[in-house]
Amino acid sequence: MRRINWGNTIFLIVSPIIALTFLPIHITLEGMPWSLLILFAFSCLATSVSITGGYHRLFSHKSYEANKFVKLFYLICGAAALQGSALKWSSDHRRHHRHVDTEEDPYNIQKGFWYAHIGWIFLKDDPKYANQMAPDLKMDPLIAWQHKYYYLIAVVVGFLFPTLVGAAFGYPLGGFLYGGIARVVITHHCTFFINSLCHLWGNQPYSDKFSAKDNFLLAFLTYGEGFHNFHHRFANDYRNGIKWYHWDPTKWTIRSLSILGFTWSLQKTGENEILKAVLSADKRKIQNKGFYDQHMESLKLKIEEAHRRIQHAKARYNALKADLSAQKDRKLFELRLELKTAKKEFRVGLQQWQTLKKLG
Ligand SMILES: [Zn+2]
Ligand SMILES: [Zn+2]
Repeated sequence: MRRINWGNTIFLIVSPIIALTFLPIHITLEGMPWSLLILFAFSCLATSVSITGGYHRLFSHKSYEANKFVKLFYLICGAAALQGSALKWSSDHRRHHRHVDTEEDPYNIQKGFWYAHIGWIFLKDDPKYANQMAPDLKMDPLIAWQHKYYYLIAVVVGFLFPTLVGAAFGYPLGGFLYGGIARVVITHHCTFFINSLCHLWGNQPYSDKFSAKDNFLLAFLTYGEGFHNFHHRFANDYRNGIKWYHWDPTKWTIRSLSILGFTWSLQKTGENEILKAVLSADKRKIQNKGFYDQHMESLKLKIEEAHRRIQHAKARYNALKADLSAQKDRKLFELRLELKTAKKEFRVGLQQWQTLKKLG
């Protein structure tokens, strides 16, 4: 029988009670000042993206590389999200991927919505799992530093900082409530939805061999993590929503940072591989209905082959276009140079001509 983790349990029960009791009182007395609403929005954004882009896609899955400033930001704001250190979080999450839907899965959805959502955090984990899946992260000095001072960073950045910001606008208690308590409660449950609802509601376009689902609605609450079926199938991809219109602010943040040179080596799954996964998942569904036949199998192979040819032709087309464009640039440069030289020779010759003409 696993023992209760009283620290986690009390915090997870008391924080929503404080938010639901004191926030309405504060709103009644002070209204909803813009300064506090902006503080709430920014603190939600900073701590949530540090979890989704930092703890999850960078530290747990290594789906891209980032410089020290970005890592430090993720570690500081990630601690303020109060979901444990990056080391513990990533180790648990890697275990979730490796043993999804089994007894070894720390937030196993087979034990029900409440267990996967929050119940697992109420219980003490078996010490044999402690940071077991993240030996590489233990070696990272920044991650080790955050693990050591996690509680101090969490209190200073998660509560003291927003209180001081609120105080600067004349609302110290408001800063604590909006940027601290309410923000942490909202961020907690939005992240927890990934482990609960994203394993219960939605579609399974890429694989039904595990419980993870794609859910457009949850993508809005989870900064893009709602495309969880794709994520479990291709966990090393820096994207979760792969179409341009998929709501995935985490992907957009990582991509924008790469344009500035702050992140790089963004891992992307090949389109052909994705198509093969979709067709294989469809095949299983059709087989379960009992009408998959040889004709469908050859059609599947034909589609895969045609798609592979499209990808190949596209790559060659783009390479040739780039090559022609470089050739064109070089030719234009040569012509400009020739024009310039000829003009100069013409001008100098004409000047000499005029001079000689006058002398004659
Ligand atoms: Zn999952
Ligand atoms: Zn993951």
